[in-house]
Amino acid sequence: KKSAKAILVTGGCGFIGNNLVRYILNNYDFTIINLDKLTYAGNVDSLCDISSKERYKFVQGDIGDRNLVRKVLAKEKPWAILNLAAESHVDRSIDGPDDFVQTNIVGTFNLLEEVRYYWNFLEAKKREKFRFLHVSTDEVFGSLRLDDAAFTENHQYSPNSPYSASKAASDHLVRSYFRTYGLPTLTTHCSNNYGPYQFPEKLIPLMVLNCLSERALPVYGDGQNIRDWLYVGDHCCALMTVLLNGKAGQTYNIGGNCEKKNIEIVCLVCSILDEKKPRLQGKKYNELITFVKDRPGHDLRYAMNTEKIRSELGWRAVESFETGLEKTIEWYLNNNIWTERILSGKYQLERLGVATTQ
Ligand code: NAD
Repeated sequence: KKSAKAILVTGGCGFIGNNLVRYILNNYDFTIINLDKLTYAGNVDSLCDISSKERYKFVQGDIGDRNLVRKVLAKEKPWAILNLAAESHVDRSIDGPDDFVQTNIVGTFNLLEEVRYYWNFLEAKKREKFRFLHVSTDEVFGSLRLDDAAFTENHQYSPNSPYSASKAASDHLVRSYFRTYGLPTLTTHCSNNYGPYQFPEKLIPLMVLNCLSERALPVYGDGQNIRDWLYVGDHCCALMTVLLNGKAGQTYNIGGNCEKKNIEIVCLVCSILDEKKPRLQGKKYNELITFVKDRPGHDLRYAMNTEKIRSELGWRAVESFETGLEKTIEWYLNNNIWTERILSGKYQLERLGVATTQ
């Protein structure tokens, strides 16, 4: 039997990565090799439902480990690479930018070097079909004012946090590998994702979990910062659309056409939970909202123009924010073991071989 074509996904144990691995296995015949370092954000629990599948392999390792990447490429011979491995949390990048520079810039560079070498020695037909898809963010474009038009793919880069600066640097490296070496790259810029399996430090899961444990709901500044929101399942579909039909060397914006103020999101989470899991004594969750000192360099607004991916590749977001948010909250209510193991640190301790019986 001819074995299925392989895709190397990096960062497949993270939030978008595990949703993407599952999405590909459920919808396509590809084999997935998941290369993930398992930082604090990587969680093998997130893939326990598919870890025994025939078309799935996990390799623990760093995208910056050239020897390992070389071996994986030589052995698995992927026809495509989806690069999601990154440090992804803006607040952590402010507290300590080191890992962001190491993984997002140096790591992506090392990965690109090994991929270039691997790709150079492929036979002509495979060289042509090969794709390196780099998953980036809208944050590289910087901040918009309220009356500015949404970001197009040609918007000037203007990153404001160490996170977005490190992602911008990696985007430039990817671009240069197409222009200089002809490596068939694709880059996507996506807005804020939400959905199942998102690490509890990010806005929506943080608010849900704080509500459930009756803790304060910290909102930066006056809560007026605006983000565009996309359900993670729609992002996965967009990534596969770009991988299979995108034109090498191009960049594509991905977004939900769904701009929301942070405070609106928090209030919506509160009102959904008021219905699904009412507080005692008739109290409302929005009473827990607490405004805290703003994040330094906090971008006011991101908004995405997604005309290119819609007109050229026929992709558009299908999940509405209201249903997507309800599904997400429902998922957190039904998966408290997953969150409990993160909050207690057990998901990492077991990996290190530390007994956690009590
Ligand atoms: P995440 O933080 O949840 O997951 C990142 C994963 O990468 C983790 O599993 C981690 O273990 C792994 N990783 C980190 N450093 C690594 C290294 N050196 N080598 C191998 N693996 C490593 O991130 P996410 O939210 O799933 O985001 C995935 C990608 O999508 C990132 O590149 C991010 O910049 C981009 N992105 C995210 C969003 C969003 O809203 N979450 C939006 C746009 C773009």
